[in-house]
Amino acid sequence: MNDWVEIVRDERHIKRERAKAREMRKTPYFQDLFRQGVCYYCKEKFPEDELTLDHIVPVVRGGKSTRGNLVVCCKSCNQEKRYYTPAEQILNQNNDNLSNLEDQYIPEQFQQEEDLEIDLAALGMDIDLSEFENPSSNSK
Ligand SMILES: [Zn+2]
Repeated sequence: MNDWVEIVRDERHIKRERAKAREMRKTPYFQDLFRQGVCYYCKEKFPEDELTLDHIVPVVRGGKSTRGNLVVCCKSCNQEKRYYTPAEQILNQNNDNLSNLEDQYIPEQFQQEEDLEIDLAALGMDIDLSEFENPSSNSK
């Protein structure tokens, strides 16, 4: 079974990796990174509450909660990264509505991923992203 092919639609993948990321955040490895407070992207130092755990490849695009794909970064870098694609610009406009619904326990970054998931479905953009992420999935 090619579990990477249907990644964008795979709710189990999203839930599993998101839950895993929350657990990863509690591990000594990431606790230490949060204490060090150095943003992965801009290399500046921040207090712990200014930092978020970021998936380099978002979970909704098939990213996994591994040390290699999870980085500690400041909120502004996290936001800049959100502007990287048109889809992320669109979702950002809707963040105000949706972020209030999220569990406070979930870091801001994961709220945004939740939003992305919802928005992509609403906008029908999941197909485009699927092709973008897995160009060979429809190669037949
Ligand atoms: Zn930064």
